[in-house]
Amino acid sequence: MQTYKMLIDGKWEDSTTGETFASHNPFIGKPWALIPKGNRDDAERAVEAAHRAFTSGPWPRLTASDRGHLLRKLGDLIAENAERLATIETTDNGKLINEMLFQLKYIPQWYYYFGGLADKIEGTVIPIDKPETFNFTRNEPLGVCVGITPWNSPLLLLAYKLAPALAAGNTFVAKPSEFTSASTLEFAKLVERAGFPAGVFNVVTGFGADVGETLTTHRHVAKIAFTGSEATGRKIGELAVRSFKKVTLELGGKSPHIVFADAEINNAVNGVISGIFAATGQTCIAGSRLLVERKIHDQFLEKVIALARTARMGDPLSTATQVGPVTTPPQLEKILGYIDIARAEGAECLLGGGRPSAPEFADGWFVEPTIFAGVRNDMRIAQEEVFGPVLSVIPFDTEEEAIQIANDTVYGLAAGFWTQDMRRILRVSSAIQAGTVWVNTYRTISYMSPLGGYKHSGIGRENGMASIQNYLQTKSVMISTADSVANPFIMR
Ligand code: NAD
Repeated sequence: MQTYKMLIDGKWEDSTTGETFASHNPFIGKPWALIPKGNRDDAERAVEAAHRAFTSGPWPRLTASDRGHLLRKLGDLIAENAERLATIETTDNGKLINEMLFQLKYIPQWYYYFGGLADKIEGTVIPIDKPETFNFTRNEPLGVCVGITPWNSPLLLLAYKLAPALAAGNTFVAKPSEFTSASTLEFAKLVERAGFPAGVFNVVTGFGADVGETLTTHRHVAKIAFTGSEATGRKIGELAVRSFKKVTLELGGKSPHIVFADAEINNAVNGVISGIFAATGQTCIAGSRLLVERKIHDQFLEKVIALARTARMGDPLSTATQVGPVTTPPQLEKILGYIDIARAEGAECLLGGGRPSAPEFADGWFVEPTIFAGVRNDMRIAQEEVFGPVLSVIPFDTEEEAIQIANDTVYGLAAGFWTQDMRRILRVSSAIQAGTVWVNTYRTISYMSPLGGYKHSGIGRENGMASIQNYLQTKSVMISTADSVANPFIMR
């Protein structure tokens, strides 16, 4: 059994109580690592360390170029350790090694990009309408930033937060999911090796109710960047606003994936499969509602089912596997529960619909790729996030109807559609209420391109140049060059 420690103030520590909890391998359903069970005291120590590192010591004295250099060095170390980190993530969350390795090889780009941005954070000189006054702005860091991440892509979702936060000059406390803490603790060793001063980056492992809530309410925390469920996001938002912390929330989705009759059909089939069965459907951007134009509905569905049927389930560490297990037993139960709900609502199960029966899947937390036809958009299976390999198929007749169904959800994280008509591309991409719209592609993510939700899918955007503003605040400095102060009783 692998054992891990937390990084607080540059020291590798157990929790103050010495308690641990086990991390499980979803493929075999067995524990493989022991993680420190951090508590309120540990969370407070980490925030205080980050606060000290922000206000004194070497970090605030570094130039912006020095910070950029450290971030780029960290990017190099991640690249060197990509295979090892990807294997840890796959062992912990059961997502395919192909997927995690792709992510780990790509993650350095966040540190290079925001490292490059560190010394391009400029203020402005305002041509102010006051005589004998010089006015300029500075963009200053916020202080201690907290990153709370879910289990599906721990280091990628951390990079969205950590890279801009450090580039802007903040310090950071990370709290990974209790289901997948190991990769963040391994990653912390690389942050240390890159040469960041003690306390600039801290990791506290543990549970939401104590570690998470302490981080969300601590008076020295200036900003919380969260990715996770809508329910937890709401709790964090409500708590954080009481002390006016800045918050970005990346929450769930029920993304529509629309196929018009004029689409390039084989590409659309591949897109639809990648939208829902990649990562075993455990992605916030999963294209879980398939809207198909009625005149191609049956023929298109036949092709999707035929391809989904060939998906090889198995060991996520094997590069031949196409669908791995889901990450946790509660997630398995939740998905099976939604399959029952869909049946009870009258949806017709055309593929899968349960756990695979073959003996090699007996220990792992597997669910078959599942497709429901005859879904109406007001059914729970079409409205609630399943976060698993379950596709709901809804027919439509006109473009207007497709847009109406697509937008008829509380979520608005992502959407995709397939068509060859350029005028339709412009119309539909403008009408869809979602933070990201993919046309003739799906699940494309870049450090350069903003990601975030409309409606209940979140607040704010991560990635892209503007996201550095999430970690900055503007100060306006006015300097009088006048020889004397005028009438003190009126506003100047
Ligand atoms: P979750 O909300 O249960 O947990 C996420 C994190 O929040 C974990 O680290 C957890 O320990 C912590 N947490 C739990 N309760 C807390 C509290 N009261 N205070 C502070 N922290 C607390 O989510 P999950 O089940 O780990 O992840 C799945 C969810 O994440 C899905 O709903 C999915 O849509 C969403 N997600 C969104 C995105 C995105 O970019 N929008 C990306 C990935 C996942």
